Amino acid sequence: MQSIDFRDLGLLPELTETVAALGYEEPTAIQREAIPPLLSGRDVLGQAATGTGKTAAFALPLLHRLGRSTDGSRSVRALVLVPTRELAMQVAEAIHRYGKQLGIGVLPIFGGQSIGLQLRTLKRGVDVVVATPGRALDHIRRGSLDLGRIEFLVLDEADEMLDMGFADELDAILENVPATRQSALFSATLAPRIRTIAKRHLKDPVHVTIANEVGAPGEVPRVREVVYVVPRPHKIAALARVLDAESPTSAIVFCRTRTEVDELTETLGGRGYQAEAIHGGLSQEQRDRVLRRFRDGRSELLIATDVAARGLDIEHVSHVVNYDVPSSPDAYVHRIGRTGRAGREGVAITFAEAREQRLLRNIEQHTKRKIKIESVPTVHDLRARRLEMLSADLNTAVESGELERYRVIVESLAHEHEALDLAAAALKLLDRSRDGDGESEQDIPTVEFGGGRGQKTERKPPRPRADNVATTRIFIGVGRNDNVRPADLVGAIANEAHIDSRELGAIDIADRFSLVEVPEAIAEHVIKALKRTTIRGKKAGARRDRGR
Ligand code: AMP
Repeated sequence: MQSIDFRDLGLLPELTETVAALGYEEPTAIQREAIPPLLSGRDVLGQAATGTGKTAAFALPLLHRLGRSTDGSRSVRALVLVPTRELAMQVAEAIHRYGKQLGIGVLPIFGGQSIGLQLRTLKRGVDVVVATPGRALDHIRRGSLDLGRIEFLVLDEADEMLDMGFADELDAILENVPATRQSALFSATLAPRIRTIAKRHLKDPVHVTIANEVGAPGEVPRVREVVYVVPRPHKIAALARVLDAESPTSAIVFCRTRTEVDELTETLGGRGYQAEAIHGGLSQEQRDRVLRRFRDGRSELLIATDVAARGLDIEHVSHVVNYDVPSSPDAYVHRIGRTGRAGREGVAITFAEAREQRLLRNIEQHTKRKIKIESVPTVHDLRARRLEMLSADLNTAVESGELERYRVIVESLAHEHEALDLAAAALKLLDRSRDGDGESEQDIPTVEFGGGRGQKTERKPPRPRADNVATTRIFIGVGRNDNVRPADLVGAIANEAHIDSRELGAIDIADRFSLVEVPEAIAEHVIKALKRTTIRGKKAGARRDRGR
């Protein structure tokens, strides 16, 4: 993989310093390709999914441009259009983070948020607006968002915006943006309708794509590849579970940034793992020391960034763990090439968040192999696994003999107890002595990916009900076609019926309807409340699900 430094890209020093401080060691593929043309003033048409680092790929050049020529007027000079409120918040947050040193003001605007607050902030003046198309158009029509001085325009996840039916809004907005602006359009696919938009609104764009990079497909033999889809707050716990279940003899855990490497190493250390960090911030001497300890088995886990791992002279590891989905298929192939070498078996484990599904698909397309989605082992699985290992250890101990000292004790105890009971009790003691990891008993939610694109069945996993409360499913007459997401259903039910969202169980969203599991005792109450309300602007209608 070609190595290039952020400093080589020609960004303002404030920006290179900021990304260094965030622990980014090198630009990702999409950043390497998109930043130089954007800095030179070209338009860019980029094919990249979430998780590739595409936000920084447009945010850094955007900030570079605004930062180089602050005109002091605080008029809106950059507009980023995104499909959802979540993305608006995320992107605004990222731009704020990257642009802090430059003092750039950012405002996310989206529906559902108080328009008053947005109006006041717009009046005070911001440099960058990150908006969903509907709300942006609202403001344009009210005269509160003036696009007359826009220099930089981004359409992020353009395919998603079209899927959500924002085509007309986009056209209307783009008419209000000066033709002199620079534009970047990012989309996970370059379907014909995306190309049409690009043709209409971009000027001779540079095409960048990271979907199919270098590296021969099918390169990695004998590697079991699995993925766990886990919400971010549960990732550490999930990693610990998986490590316990897999008990790797040696493993490299990859993170995206130096900061993540340091944090994860510390957290794992606190949980009793022998983990060592390795990243570009270490001196040669420190690196050598870390490697020596790893090679002779004094540490079991190496937590690394891609950059640090690239030059590592490590023959083989039993497990490669991607704590985040790598930002390109190429990086994935590189990483997991560290296991399954020379005909040995290896395991490649990837943790993904639900929104990184597209990135995984890219990897699968590239490697021409399916990555199996598994559930994080439960506490029950871990116990079973531990007993399995105990019994294997017992077997070895019996075979290796030298039991004389212990036989004497067993013989004296055998006057009072059955030999079988004695053995079982000994096992129980051993088991208990290994049961000290303090792991919480709670199961970690995993999220399932649905089928193809746009066919996603969003599913909030059922929380196991410790209290055995009887539940029932409620049928609600809005679904994916109405852009309903689990959060909309939870929000509507919690607000209208005044119940704690933790009362709700599994949520399934189909095209035209949704099913929500609620405690039987409050089912009627919830149905009544739902009849009074709208979800995503539609009267929903609710009744008990007849399927049950
Ligand atoms: P995105 O694809 O923009 O959603 O970014 C995915 C994640 O990668 C975010 O958490 C970023 O903070 C992180 N990231 C972006 N660029 C880099 C980089 N060059 N090195 C390491 N992490 C990065």
